[in-house]
Amino acid sequence: MAAENAKGHTCACGCGKPIRILPSHHSQGIPRYLRAHHPMAVTMETRHIKESGLLTSTAVAQMLGIGKTTLRRIEGTLFEPVPRQGSRKMRVFTPEQVDVLRNELRQKTRLGPKPVLVGLEELACRAACSMQTIRRRLGTELPPGRKLSEGPRAKWGFTPKEAKQIVAWVKRHVRRRRRRQRAEGKT
Ligand SMILES: [Zn+2]
Repeated sequence: MAAENAKGHTCACGCGKPIRILPSHHSQGIPRYLRAHHPMAVTMETRHIKESGLLTSTAVAQMLGIGKTTLRRIEGTLFEPVPRQGSRKMRVFTPEQVDVLRNELRQKTRLGPKPVLVGLEELACRAACSMQTIRRRLGTELPPGRKLSEGPRAKWGFTPKEAKQIVAWVKRHVRRRRRRQRAEGKT
């Protein structure tokens, strides 16, 4: 038994969870799936969710035009954790929740199709300057915007109004200064 356990049997559904070998498996054989992880059980569970008018995370991610991983990442931050259903603890959403979420995504993030917020890259492009030029002035000369993710490749979002303001500011200040510097360099 210990030897069988050491082999590391994992569930065949792809969940990656280990199957612990029990004495009873000696005579019955080692099960390929964890309880309720059999593909048919998963299908039945999904069908049950659909029939009750609810949506699985796969369906919701598709409807919102985002990945399943992204949906999982924004759960608990952009929206309250949704209830889990069934033995595999599948997330279930109501159609109303999806509408609310779509709106939240549009207003507060740059995820999914047609976000309202403008990204830093887009902004730099519009203002014809580097992203750094804008980023180091955020919260001082320019509105702070919203930091949408962390890390060295952090993403930012600006409302269309903020975007307009920033582009105008860069055109007024940065370009003129650069031109003046170039002129001074010549003399
Ligand atoms: Zn499994």
